Amino acid sequence: MQPEIGTPIIQLPRRVYDGFGFATRSVSMFARPQSGAEVQQLMLNAQREGYTVALRGSGRSYGDAAMNGGNLVLDMTGMRRVIAWDPATGVIDVEPGVTIEDVWRLCLKDGWWPAVVPGTMFPTIGGCLAMNIHGKNHFRLGGTGDHVIEADFVTPAGEQLLLSRTENADFFHAAISGFGMLGTFTRIRLQLKRVESGRLSVEQIPARNLDEQFDYFEAHGADSDYLVSWVDCIASGSGLGRGQIHRALYLHADQDPEGVPMLDPARQDLPGTILGVPRGVVGSVLGLFNFNLGMQLVNTGKYFASVLSPRAAYKQPHVAFHFLLDYVPTWRNAYQPGGFIQYQPFIPKETARQAFKDILRLNQARGLVSYLGVMKRYRADNFLLSHALDGYSMAMDFPITASNREALWKMCYEMNEIVLAAGGKFYPAKDALMRPQDFQRGWGQQKIAAFRALRQRADPNRVLRSDLAVRIGLDEAR
Ligand SMILES: Cc1cc2nc3c(=O)[nH]c(=O)nc-3n(C[C@H](O)[C@H](O)[C@H](O)COP(=O)(O)OP(=O)(O)OC[C@H]3O[C@@H](n4cnc5c(N)ncnc54)[C@H](O)[C@@H]3O)c2cc1C
Repeated sequence: MQPEIGTPIIQLPRRVYDGFGFATRSVSMFARPQSGAEVQQLMLNAQREGYTVALRGSGRSYGDAAMNGGNLVLDMTGMRRVIAWDPATGVIDVEPGVTIEDVWRLCLKDGWWPAVVPGTMFPTIGGCLAMNIHGKNHFRLGGTGDHVIEADFVTPAGEQLLLSRTENADFFHAAISGFGMLGTFTRIRLQLKRVESGRLSVEQIPARNLDEQFDYFEAHGADSDYLVSWVDCIASGSGLGRGQIHRALYLHADQDPEGVPMLDPARQDLPGTILGVPRGVVGSVLGLFNFNLGMQLVNTGKYFASVLSPRAAYKQPHVAFHFLLDYVPTWRNAYQPGGFIQYQPFIPKETARQAFKDILRLNQARGLVSYLGVMKRYRADNFLLSHALDGYSMAMDFPITASNREALWKMCYEMNEIVLAAGGKFYPAKDALMRPQDFQRGWGQQKIAAFRALRQRADPNRVLRSDLAVRIGLDEAR
């Protein structure tokens, strides 16, 4: 049963929250508001009783962005109504707890797809805006914020603001990317992307090393709709950074008549087995390979398979292309019991090539190598604390064990130095390690000062707080 909104914070139910990587964990009181008015009331109660508040969507951030140890967490999935959908224009109005999955399941049959989707369909739209998430097409269409027409927003100070590029434009550009530290989105109007087929045309291109990966991305940005690359982080020497690039293109109805009925969401779902293994146990099977030699075999096999038997372009449903991991619900259990961190630096295009090589060599020298690397291309955007820049990211997953934890953290700080010296920054949605000095160098004093000034107006009593915000020293210079 839902507790009364007026219940003293200390008497609210408690829950252990963790980040998606299991590496961070804390206990908080929680409430699940059903409206903007309830959010405001809970903020007021918290402030009166001396507690701070963090907002939480689906909890898909890898680190501590949606955690608030010892204080209150507002679970925004209680606000999950679609307010309006116009299949003629592709404009949708949603509450912030509506998920990416809710949107595509409703809109695909009408020929619309979210312009930007992450690698999982479970995040909420509110959580996606707070992080200004990216997809495999950032270099073409930007982040999710670029497709927001307007939003309703409430601040802890009690202001109800309409945000758009012309109304409260400073808040619009700061709340999107502001990791929930200025207030709460309560309604979001999004423009979706027209699609004529339920499938994409996908090509897999082998790359013999990191230089070939970069050359391909630079040559094919203009004629690709999506680009993403798998990086073998274990290969060394002349094969350093080798891998496989996936390039995808939208299909017109006349190019793929059989794909038109696949706009039916029921025809997007994947079969119950992957390579003959039931989906539910794929995570445990992956666990068997989760050691250096095992992953070396997997990576080498995957790379040579793509070189020796190159596939012609094939057609793949949108869901399979974007959300394959969601169909292996237990995959992250392969990293149990210690969990894992995802390290994802963003580096300008001029320096990324060398920096990624330095990072891979450092990992190999330290004997702490990611089992999977994923490279993507970005363009710069106008959102104040956005992670995106005109350059590249490489996401790497590192398992945590009792014996490697100290060495892993030390190596990550060494990587931070490489990233920052190259003019790069980190992704708050993935981060578990950024320190105040890293945040300041990554974003620069000017942007952080501008954000703090907006925060002073929106939340003068510092009701909003997350473990991430404390860790990176957001309020240090208060
Ligand atoms: C398997 C996997 C793949 C992923 N792939 C990608 C990817 O390709 N690209 C990418 O960019 N990200 C990716 N992510 C990260 C994910 O998209 C982000 O962490 C996203 O923010 C998660 O949304 P959420 O609803 O789970 O929010 P949470 O993780 O719960 O919260 C994220 C932030 O949103 C804030 N917030 C939540 N609701 C509101 C609200 N109503 N108003 C204001 N602030 C709010 C929270 O305070 C927090 O700071 C991936 C994550 C996973 C697990």
